[in-house]
Amino acid sequence: MAYDFDLFVIGAGSGGVRAARFAAGFGAKVAVAESRYLGGTCVNVGCVPKKLLVYGAHVADELEQAAGYGWSLEEGHFDWGTLIANKNREIERLNGIYRNLLVNSGVTLLQGHARITGAHELEIEGERYTAEHILIATGGWPQVPDIPGKDLAITSNEAFYLKDLPRRVLVVGGGYIAVEFAGIFQGLGAATTLLYRGDLFLRGFDGSVRTHLKEELEKRGLDLQFNADIQRIDKLEDGSLKATLKDGRELVADCVFYATGRRPMLDNLGLENTGVELDERGYVRVDDQYQTTAPSILAIGDVIGRVQLTPVALAEGMAVARRLFKPEQYRPVDYQNIPTAVFSQPPIGTVGLTEEQALEAGHKVNIYESRFRAMKLTLTDIQEKTLMKLVVDAQTDKVLGCHMVGPDAGEIIQGLGVALKAGATKQQFDETIGVHPTAAEEFVTLRTITR
Ligand code: FAD
Ligand code: NDP
Repeated sequence: MAYDFDLFVIGAGSGGVRAARFAAGFGAKVAVAESRYLGGTCVNVGCVPKKLLVYGAHVADELEQAAGYGWSLEEGHFDWGTLIANKNREIERLNGIYRNLLVNSGVTLLQGHARITGAHELEIEGERYTAEHILIATGGWPQVPDIPGKDLAITSNEAFYLKDLPRRVLVVGGGYIAVEFAGIFQGLGAATTLLYRGDLFLRGFDGSVRTHLKEELEKRGLDLQFNADIQRIDKLEDGSLKATLKDGRELVADCVFYATGRRPMLDNLGLENTGVELDERGYVRVDDQYQTTAPSILAIGDVIGRVQLTPVALAEGMAVARRLFKPEQYRPVDYQNIPTAVFSQPPIGTVGLTEEQALEAGHKVNIYESRFRAMKLTLTDIQEKTLMKLVVDAQTDKVLGCHMVGPDAGEIIQGLGVALKAGATKQQFDETIGVHPTAAEEFVTLRTITR
């Protein structure tokens, strides 16, 4: 049977755009449907605008350090409206780039919500299309627990478009987004409280990293409240919000920001017309080649709930394009040793196993850990400490994990990701000449086993 397209991609986000462009480049006839914004979450309400706001908040640190270097500055003034307007302009520029990338690679771009109507059929804005393969790359959406007053809260989607910087913010959650936005709000001058339901935030990260970041955030005056969760939110007469916690305490703020995870975006996608099954967590079930339980339908990115990071969605998109249209170049995505950063202030960079994971996997480990005041701070009164940690297999000498909290951690950890992928040993780290004077050189000069 002749189909309209060889591949129909639903969602022009990180994964969908990559799959579409490469499939078209391999000679396939490809269409992409996008209901909201080109570039998806990462470009519009994720990585990119978030990083721009982090940069904005970081300026406060630079200003604080300036005096030690002889600069006397008049008291600065921050204007949220300018930052948001500039950020919006940059996002529009990127939307245009994404449009050009798709169109120039020969992809048919369709604006509107796509609904699957059969194994090879879709409907967009009343028009029907057929395709040999359908790729679901619809991403995720913020999830807010169902508490009274939840509609008074915002999520990351809205935070990027707030008219004003709230004076007092309650951030709820203890994952990437909560920690990053707590740093943004606080750095820009809002009195910020982070509420996390467990004993210590960033579950799944290395224990030393979690404790170190907690201490550093507290030094900066962030109000961290663990074992705390909101039971209800009410609007007060003056327009502010009252959060009543499960332990009975009441906190008043101008903004309650929820970052309590994301659900797969499957709204009105028409999965009931297909054999696509969901896994026990509600994500689209796929095999190791991104094939769903319906033979003509594949899925990648946040909607499959594996690792919700843009570079992972990109790699999965590439793998699907190759698998379908250039099988001789197909290589499976390597989910081991994925480097990642949390753009908190100070940021975290991490790759490989945490100490806890290494022990649980049965490794005998040597831990090398160092805490130091970065050179840049020595001419200032700032007492912030950087943490660097290596988790090493005591028997094979292989470096199993690298963890850092401190300036430029994300930039530094990328290179160490290559070292871990190559299977580097501690001895090879030791034999690598450092770059002096940098903080990064500490990773190749850690000589003493801490534990
Ligand atoms: P998405 O990028 O979400 O794209 C899905 C697209 O599908 C969307 O454009 C959506 O509108 C469209 N769509 C959905 N349903 C339909 C439909 N039925 N019809 C048509 N179109 C549809 N990752 C990092 O690696 N680094 C970071 O710093 C980082 N920061 C983040 C910060 C925030 C606040 C958030 C929320 C996420 C962040 N992420 C970050 C995660 C990253 O954004 C996601 O992992 C990535 O965007 C997933 O790509 P995707 O292709 O699966 O989906
Ligand atoms: P995460 O899954 O990272 O964290 C969710 C947090 O919310 C956890 O601390 C969780 O607690 C808590 N939580 C979940 N449900 C509830 C509830 N009902 N009540 C109170 N707290 C709750 O999700 P995020 O929303 O922060 O981010 C989504 C994903 O996006 C990330 O996992 C990451 O993959 C990606 N991302 C990546 C970034 C980067 O690369 N820098 C930046 C931002 C996002 P508990 O631990 O107890 O379950």
